[in-house]
Amino acid sequence: MTDLTQRLEELELRFVLVSFTDLFGIQRAKLVPVSALAGMASEGAGFAGFAAWLDLSPADGDVLAVPDPASLTALPWQAGVGWMAAELTLNGSAMAQCPRRLLRLQQERAATLGFELRSGVEAEFFLLSPDGAAIADTSDHQEKPCYDQLALMRRFGLIGPLLTAMEQLGWGPYQADHEDANGQFELNWTFTDALTTADRHAFFKVMVKAMAEQQGMRASFMAKPFADLTGNGCHTHLSLWGTCGQNLFHDPEGELGLSALAYHFLGGLLTHAPALCAITNPTLNSYRRLAAPPTSSGATWSPGGISYTGNNRTHMVRIPDDQRLELRLPDGSAHPYLLQAAILAAGLDGIEHQLDPGPRHDNDNYAMPLCPDQCQRLPADLGEALDAFAADSALRQALGEEFCQAYERLRRRQWLRRRGDISDAERCMGLDG
Ligand SMILES: [Mg+2]
Repeated sequence: MTDLTQRLEELELRFVLVSFTDLFGIQRAKLVPVSALAGMASEGAGFAGFAAWLDLSPADGDVLAVPDPASLTALPWQAGVGWMAAELTLNGSAMAQCPRRLLRLQQERAATLGFELRSGVEAEFFLLSPDGAAIADTSDHQEKPCYDQLALMRRFGLIGPLLTAMEQLGWGPYQADHEDANGQFELNWTFTDALTTADRHAFFKVMVKAMAEQQGMRASFMAKPFADLTGNGCHTHLSLWGTCGQNLFHDPEGELGLSALAYHFLGGLLTHAPALCAITNPTLNSYRRLAAPPTSSGATWSPGGISYTGNNRTHMVRIPDDQRLELRLPDGSAHPYLLQAAILAAGLDGIEHQLDPGPRHDNDNYAMPLCPDQCQRLPADLGEALDAFAADSALRQALGEEFCQAYERLRRRQWLRRRGDISDAERCMGLDG
């Protein structure tokens, strides 16, 4: 507690949000005065678990959220308030469906094999009107809006402070740009160990939303808010590092400069891709982004099947250089902790079973898609992804059956309740048919 007390004083914090991210990616928190934090830090802040997406009943006892002091972050947009990521206990035991714990356990499993996953995420987002119906910037209407300097600088009032905030937090931000959809932006910060990246990813999403809200806008990481525009990806860059701090994916003698270990990890990603989709593309809307028709900018920038390539953005996995893999499957609605936990579980399975990723394909997979016998298709909807998740015993064993059942139950309930929704366009086409 001494270190924590000292840091709270240094950061001049009077309150701390003891926060956890539930299974649907919603951040839940208690705002705790610093004077009461000592008790919370050891015993945890109490929550009624049924009130969040945790697959609990109203009859269950209190879920206790025990904050990790290492995650303490001062809110850049609200002086005097800090944020701490917490892990959940129920009835005195660690909760199997705690997402942050799941990732930490996967990192510990990797550590026993001598690996550390280091990752970076590209968390794309839209800036919208407060009701979410339209792009906030009414002048942002170029057909190819990517890297539009004028549109980027019209949002300097938000993007500039976000970059400054990330610099002050020590994340190493290095660029920001206007992305491929009107109203869409991306800010990049330096990759690091997967748990720190996940904490930052979780914090980034609330930071962007809160700071946008202060300026009368709504930030959204939704996978595909507009049918004709590119969706929000969450491309994830991956490498395994050894205990002496060496990148184990790099091998100058290997194909494209990558090691056999990297290709086995890749084999795991490809093998488990259909089941992974339940985590990397977790919403009904996620499947509007995958295998979608071209957008008004000319490309979706999302994968249409399960394949890998070199420095080519039309496949599910890109090998951009001799240091890493880029998984282009996840979208903005992916859960910051579950995303990395599931990826690591799939990759480690690939290593343990020496899975072969098969041949690389260097075609333009948008203009000339691979034939079905060369490239397995992705799930067409959340129902198919959940079926694949249900059938993937290796992934389930790695993530733990208790978590998998809870997650699948919640998502399947959502799928069954919403899959019958009838859109305005559908009614318009069908009413007079
Ligand atoms: Mg991007």
